[in-house]
Amino acid sequence: MMKKETVAVIGSGTMGAGIAEVAASHGHPVLLYDVAEGAVARAIDAIGSRLQSRVARGKLSAEACEKTRANLIPAAILNDLAAADLVIEAASERLEIKRALFNELATICQPHALLTSNTSSISVTAIAAGVSHPERVAGLHFFNPAPVMKLVEVVSGLATSAEVADRLCALARSWGKTPVRCQSTPGFIVNRVARPFYAEAWRALEEQVAAPEIIDAALRDGGGFPMGPLELTDLIGQDVNFAVTCSVFNAFWQERRFLPSLVQQELVLGGRLGKKSGQGVYDWRQPKPSVAWLDSPASSEAFNVQEKIDGVTEIDEVLLMETCGETAQSLHLRHRRPVVVIDLMERDVAVIAAAAGNPPEATQKVIAWLSQQGKRVVQIADYPGLLIWRTVAMIVNEALDALQKGVASEADIDTAMRLGVNYPCGPLAWGERLGWQRLLLLLENLQRHYGEERYRPCSLLRQRALLESRYES
Ligand code: NAD
Repeated sequence: MMKKETVAVIGSGTMGAGIAEVAASHGHPVLLYDVAEGAVARAIDAIGSRLQSRVARGKLSAEACEKTRANLIPAAILNDLAAADLVIEAASERLEIKRALFNELATICQPHALLTSNTSSISVTAIAAGVSHPERVAGLHFFNPAPVMKLVEVVSGLATSAEVADRLCALARSWGKTPVRCQSTPGFIVNRVARPFYAEAWRALEEQVAAPEIIDAALRDGGGFPMGPLELTDLIGQDVNFAVTCSVFNAFWQERRFLPSLVQQELVLGGRLGKKSGQGVYDWRQPKPSVAWLDSPASSEAFNVQEKIDGVTEIDEVLLMETCGETAQSLHLRHRRPVVVIDLMERDVAVIAAAAGNPPEATQKVIAWLSQQGKRVVQIADYPGLLIWRTVAMIVNEALDALQKGVASEADIDTAMRLGVNYPCGPLAWGERLGWQRLLLLLENLQRHYGEERYRPCSLLRQRALLESRYES
């Protein structure tokens, strides 16, 4: 698509205004339409103030600000969008609204115009059904805030032509975005693969494994995620995050992996929506509770330490074992030794759990040794798979399932998760580094422990684990 082609944006709310700003700042005339009276004028004002504040901070020239402003053209009625070469619909998330709009657009716009939706959860195939020339209908899914976030999911429905997807990718690149391609399936890439990040945190909270701030610190400071899952839901809004979870759960015919959390539902029902309502998982009117890291008195005690294979370290008589999805107590019974299990250590944080049968001094010895190694230590209940390993394993499993089902390519899944939700590593690259066999073992152990389908390893994980063992033998 040439730069100066006309873009129309429908819906001038959070996303529409952001997308209009992106297109206008890249030189496109942008027709902006909203059904609500005064909404377009408010959006143009808001964009103007955002641009002005960038000028004030020296991030944008006054001339570029003026040019972008001049590119924003209010449209009073849908018919005013007839000149558009590309339409991006960002109206409310309801299929009947989107269908009605696309049917009208198909008669108003020129036959070559591309018709796209910023929907985050509705099937692009369903939006395109009944529209004349459905091959030109696609999803163009920006992330919030659209001017800042680099990722755009270019979503193909059943009828979308490859040429249209190519043109949309080229356009997104010309706007400084990184496009990824995916098929129209529930949650597309990001909203599907990210589900376990939240779900495992809710489960840990439900099973009273640790306080919310510890669960968050484990994933954030220990796992390298930019934010803990629970604090993130408070920022997104519990209502918004819960609605996405319910939508994905129902769209997958109530697949157990996506089961919504009763604890989160209670928050929503109680109006504890997170930061915006003052209270959610946390009370935002108070200082955030700090994590009580276990301070072992600076000891110079010497331990007899032996590194064994497979993530096992012997510290005197105690076995320190990287979790593979079993409880410390079951390992203690099998090995007839004191056992402490430890979580994935991507950073200097050590999340541990001790067998109930350990003498207290055995666990204390491990804490002292880890402190000597410069780790911040936190102890949680004896929980299989602990917090980071279990969450990462479930994210990798979901990414593999999406890959196997042709939702997107391996590279695009990893790019989407790095840029859409700022994961420290693409899940498939992460899985490769951690080892497919190890991930498979962890999920199998969790599945055995709970007797639930939720932890069922996907078929591609089994295949990759087999290939890994072939190469290793
Ligand atoms: P919003 O509520 O802020 O804005 C929606 C706007 O659409 C409103 O101004 C409303 O008046 C207008 N509208 C409703 N029906 C219309 C119609 N028939 N014609 C024209 N305008 C109409 O919503 P939002 O958060 O900007 O979301 C818009 C779309 O983007 C949704 O499909 C949503 O799922 C998707 N999305 C949202 C986010 C996000 O983080 N908010 C991220 C990605 C995608």
